[in-house]
Amino acid sequence: MRKRVWKTLAIAICISIILSFLPYSEKTRPGLPRLHAESAKGSRSESRPAVPETYRDQVVVLVYHNVDPEVPTPESISPRMFEDHIEMFRDRGYHVISMAQFLHFLQGGPVPDKALLLTFDDGYEGVYRYAYPILRRHHLPATVFIVARWAGRKHGWFQYMSVEELRDMQRSGLIEIGSHSYDGHRTILGKNGTTPALVAPGAHEAEADYEKRVLDDFVKSRKFFQSELHVDNGIFCEPFGASSPTMIQLGKKAGYRYFFTGGGGSVTRQTPPEAIPRIDAGNRNMNPKWLNKWILQQVRPASTHGRPGQDGKTGEGAVPEYSG
Ligand SMILES: [Zn+2]
Repeated sequence: MRKRVWKTLAIAICISIILSFLPYSEKTRPGLPRLHAESAKGSRSESRPAVPETYRDQVVVLVYHNVDPEVPTPESISPRMFEDHIEMFRDRGYHVISMAQFLHFLQGGPVPDKALLLTFDDGYEGVYRYAYPILRRHHLPATVFIVARWAGRKHGWFQYMSVEELRDMQRSGLIEIGSHSYDGHRTILGKNGTTPALVAPGAHEAEADYEKRVLDDFVKSRKFFQSELHVDNGIFCEPFGASSPTMIQLGKKAGYRYFFTGGGGSVTRQTPPEAIPRIDAGNRNMNPKWLNKWILQQVRPASTHGRPGQDGKTGEGAVPEYSG
């Protein structure tokens, strides 16, 4: 009798050990109610167009922020989860392209099927320590968008990559660096409440002073990247994913040509360079299965390429608004 009890116990322990090792296993990942809810919701809406398994002549641009095993913020993903994303891209036949390939595509060039562009916003130190080694191991290109004034500094809770670390990544030939403003990644009190600093004048700021302030920021950031990193690639990522026609006009005056924003949807050769959409991939609960679904929901039917207004927001209404 006692022998049987011990045997049953041993078997139970073995099973639970095996279960704990299952990758992507929904039992081991936090924050899954959403995924389950999604698939449950999915089955309810048979009328929704089927999500394609592949796509061509378009690129889905992904946004990550921080990659760090310790930092528990919603925009910080663990190195393990990030590597799971990378493995999913490989297993599902995605092609991660470089910024150079992407810009060539916008000018009419070719692009592989299921093309993805990886971008990292803000310049968190964790990207250099944890994401970069994984990208190197898989020989994958990516772009980091840096707030020039934060480089090498601690800002709030976070340490940001130094110029030396950025140069080190440049030397790999895999990492492109772009501007996320000089010192425009903050909010101010505007005429209608809080506003991203580059988007509109302050409550008591004259339009001319606002325009001078924003042009200065664009010019200073371009000079920083030219002098410190020998970069002059014309790409700019909008702080908070926010912009205004005046801001874009001033950015162009300073020499920027491509403006990355948020808002969801895929990029085609007809996408205006002033508003290049991206989707958030760096939420700490974004498991690979959900990310794959999320990417494919951005895909536009080929027939809509080039038609304004067809913004490709075919997602489940849950285009997460990322904050920065
Ligand atoms: Zn940002």
